[in-house]
Amino acid sequence: MSDNLIQHLIKVSVQAKAPLELESQLILAGTKHLSQDSIETYAGPLAEKLKLGKLAKNESLSVLSHSKNADFICFLNLKKINAGIAKSTFKQAAKHPTIVIDVSSFIDNTIAASEVFQWAQQTVINVSHGVYHVMKLPVGLKKDKPSKLEQIIFAIDPQAGLNDDLVSKIQQGVALGRAMAKGQLFAKNLGNLPGNVCTPSYIAEQAGDIAQEHDNISLEVLEEADMEKLGMGSLLSVSRGSREPAKLIVLHYQGASDSNEKPHVLVGKGLTFDAGGISLKPAGKMDEMKYDMCGSASVLGALLATAELKLNINLVVIVPSSENLPDGDANKPGDIVKSMSGRTIEILNTDAEGRLILCDALTYAERFEPQTVIDVATLTGACIVALGHHTNGLMGNNPELVDALLDAGQESHDRAWELPMWDEYHQQLKSNFADLANIGGAGGGTITAACFLSKFTEKYPWAHLDIAGTAWSSGGGKGATGRCVPILTQYLYNIAA
Ligand SMILES: [Zn+2]
Repeated sequence: MSDNLIQHLIKVSVQAKAPLELESQLILAGTKHLSQDSIETYAGPLAEKLKLGKLAKNESLSVLSHSKNADFICFLNLKKINAGIAKSTFKQAAKHPTIVIDVSSFIDNTIAASEVFQWAQQTVINVSHGVYHVMKLPVGLKKDKPSKLEQIIFAIDPQAGLNDDLVSKIQQGVALGRAMAKGQLFAKNLGNLPGNVCTPSYIAEQAGDIAQEHDNISLEVLEEADMEKLGMGSLLSVSRGSREPAKLIVLHYQGASDSNEKPHVLVGKGLTFDAGGISLKPAGKMDEMKYDMCGSASVLGALLATAELKLNINLVVIVPSSENLPDGDANKPGDIVKSMSGRTIEILNTDAEGRLILCDALTYAERFEPQTVIDVATLTGACIVALGHHTNGLMGNNPELVDALLDAGQESHDRAWELPMWDEYHQQLKSNFADLANIGGAGGGTITAACFLSKFTEKYPWAHLDIAGTAWSSGGGKGATGRCVPILTQYLYNIAA
């Protein structure tokens, strides 16, 4: 991977040792299974002030320790880690090269294996979020304050008598969490790049790096002339308003022992800057429209995680990538374009361009005879109105696939919520002049966008994740979140199991 995209890959290991026998500057200890004795071991003279009851009540508590092998201890609540709330605590981790996690202070034999698995996975992800820093940009802007963290050790004290099943669950959870963290790191870095760096060609280059570094991943990039030949009039109509050439990036991962096994397909919207086109967006926060490629970042991140976990599936990742800008040659409201499927589309709002590039990519996916197709897109502002910033919007044409994604969202704490796609909503897309309109009028914007896509996905089981509310944060903490690498990775992990 090019240095600028993966600048910090943390080593994570599980070791059968008591935490204090390991060299570390930071120890994370749980509040649930910690004894007063171990607090004394860790905190030395400070233990006087720390009582178990007090620890149990606190979400997290930091202590400067005088013990010989650690400078710093964080006491954390197991449940809070799983809820993803303790992320800020993990900022401490960025200051230390090695952190040791005292597993037996979090886990004992009474805890369910599934909960242990999730805890280990979430801990790795949350430490990785905590130590994340905005990368040094190719254009030479911005501070670069790299984290010092080099490794995380899950220490399992042999004295604690943790049963073998739980130990192996910890190992599996750590491996999954590490792969997700790697994918998320990639997705955050790519997402945070400005539009003058991260163009469709730049995403294609990054995809090239991924293919080069993995023997079982191959790359194919369709240029505008290739798309023209395929009749992708919808996708190309969006890129006409931009000087950056559009790309259709296709990556093949061969992980199944049978190379002919039908693949699963991920499609990610790679709109590298969305000004809205002739239906120009308001100026406020328009900079955040560099994040309109976060769908592509998350499917590429999920691909990296899949390769890291060596999942025994075949996977195809498709990224339609373009800019959407106002220009003399840009789409105009009222224009009619012909998609690769042959359907004609009346463009009533040029800012509803995501579906215009996705629909041709979804038609292109048919040629792989996929087992399932999931598309991921920062598609509608309406999704933020409906679900806020906590939940991915989810719709699809196959209840089994939708349920599998709902479960994967719960397990990876990258949750999704299903919205209905009843016939009434489809009616909103009627056009007097074309087969369908690209917007569905007032109300239900997230659903009518999915209804639009569903016209192009009738030949396979399909689900759509709208990540407009979850892919990035605004304000002081502005930045890409790396969602939804976890839910996608968890889904692929579950079906490969
Ligand atoms: Zn738009």
